Amino acid sequence: MNSVRKFKGEKGFTLVELMVVILIIGILVGIAIPVYNQAQAKAKANACKANLRTLDGAIQTYNATTGDYPDVETYTDLVANDMLVPDYIKIAPKCPDSAGIYTYTNATHSVTCSVSGHNY
Ligand SMILES: [Zn+2]
Repeated sequence: MNSVRKFKGEKGFTLVELMVVILIIGILVGIAIPVYNQAQAKAKANACKANLRTLDGAIQTYNATTGDYPDVETYTDLVANDMLVPDYIKIAPKCPDSAGIYTYTNATHSVTCSVSGHNY
């Protein structure tokens, strides 16, 4: 049969050659995944920093308008009705990382993220 002869000839890949190709692809994927994860983490950190700056701007606008700072103890209360949302900020931002939780500190009038590296 012709097709059988084709596989026994000199042309085509040997098992070792295929294994080398698969190994090289494996190495490339092994390099690409950490690079991708790092880029994603950096993008999330930048988005979170932008959120915190926006919140800071809203708090400062609140202060400039009312002459006072929001007198609340938690982030949930800060973004609750009639405090910041919807007068000073349209929606309450969340950390893009599922592990990130925002905390409002009344003493410093600032919002911080629980993920290290997210605060500017
Ligand atoms: Zn965050």
